Amino acid sequence: MEMPTPCNNCGEIFELHDGRRSPRGKAIMICEACADEEQEEIDREEEIQELKDQISDAEYTLKAAKERLADFL
Ligand SMILES: [Zn+2]
Repeated sequence: MEMPTPCNNCGEIFELHDGRRSPRGKAIMICEACADEEQEEIDREEEIQELKDQISDAEYTLKAAKERLADFL
């Protein structure tokens, strides 16, 4: 190996140019497997947040529609 580098996450030694920058911290070099895993975690967290936002938007819409409807009844 020319530049053996320990993964900041799992400790695995990898060749520096085969490593990746951590999606969570660009200055941190981690191995490819950890980078993939981190990216999947980030995608999952983003989807969870998106779903929560959609639900709270929908709840607000329902509440506002019910209040408006009540004005007519
Ligand atoms: Zn790793």
